[in-house]
Amino acid sequence: MTTVGILGGGQLARMLALSGAPLGLRFLVLDSAEDACAGQFAPMVVGDYTDQAALDQFASNIDVATFDFENVPAESAHWLAERRPVFPSPRALAVAQDRLAEKTLFLDLGIPVPDFAAIGTRESLDAALLKIGTPCILKTRRLGYDGKGQFRIKTPADADAAWAALGPQADKVGLILEGFVAFERELSVVAVRGRDGEFRAWPITENWHVDGVLSASLAPARVDDALSATAIGYARKLAEALDYVGVVALELFCRDGVLLANELAPRVHNSGHWTIEGSETSQFQNHLRAVLGLPLGDTRVLGHACMLNWIGAMPDASAVLSEAGGHWHDYGKSSREGRKVGHATLRADSTRELADALRRVGDSLDRQEQVAPVIARLG
Ligand code: AMP
Repeated sequence: MTTVGILGGGQLARMLALSGAPLGLRFLVLDSAEDACAGQFAPMVVGDYTDQAALDQFASNIDVATFDFENVPAESAHWLAERRPVFPSPRALAVAQDRLAEKTLFLDLGIPVPDFAAIGTRESLDAALLKIGTPCILKTRRLGYDGKGQFRIKTPADADAAWAALGPQADKVGLILEGFVAFERELSVVAVRGRDGEFRAWPITENWHVDGVLSASLAPARVDDALSATAIGYARKLAEALDYVGVVALELFCRDGVLLANELAPRVHNSGHWTIEGSETSQFQNHLRAVLGLPLGDTRVLGHACMLNWIGAMPDASAVLSEAGGHWHDYGKSSREGRKVGHATLRADSTRELADALRRVGDSLDRQEQVAPVIARLG
């Protein structure tokens, strides 16, 4: 009996546990929240990532560890890696935790990125603003997610407000200024690398965000083969450079047909949720296969899929459940503004059928705005 330990007990851990059940796996989840939603399917150790007693109990009851949450403190990840195999490695985790380290690695590997500068003081912000120009975005280097820890600077006059908002965190989490990319599309590559170095990627996904939070994903993205090969090539270079094991996601902006890397997620990713029903093997199952050293599953798509995120509260399920290719995922969380509480995936054999299903679901849930950009892309 193999027990996989997961640091973090949110919906990613929950979906990992659900996909690991057919493999006969057991899970143990470490999370500080007693009601973490993965706890509905897996036993938990309740405690902080720095709580030594909790870490001890966790480590002594698992065979291998992985993450649902990338901001686990580096010392805890290293401590664990001395006792149990941990995938992805603490080194890969450390790079992905810091936007500056991440962008520096992208550049070292020849992967284009938006203009950026490390910011430590108000003076360095002013200097970087002159160099990068506006519009731009001031972000925390660490601990930001879903658009949190970001301030958009539209004109130089916004510098005071940006510094007032994020300056106080400069010492603790570091700051980075990035040029604002007027992208045509946001794309992501979700890929998996096995313990033996085998690399597989799912077809590229196009993503739409609202207020910095993922709203919809379409796969396969409607991009040409050359762009797709370039994007997958970047993900492969990164995975190899980090000797990465598990699922990794690379978020990219596409501007004037050129790809710029935004960030790396060292875990299963929201833009890969469609793989549960839209691919031969889901990102969750392949992540588990990778960390356990099992053969990786096929990443081919089954038709066309669109994932819609439910933020704040779950809508009525019937509109999705009554669709032939409609799939419902309720994470079992209580409603809260801005919280990811579930998602739906619509799968169809043709782009026309997918667009029709999206139109019906959008109308019936009064979410026309959420589905509109996807329908427009499907033509
Ligand atoms: P992040 O947390 O960096 O993934 O940012 C969340 C979202 O904010 C991204 O998916 C984009 O929609 C937007 N965003 C972040 N950085 C930039 C940028 N440099 N230029 C344009 N949009 C951005």
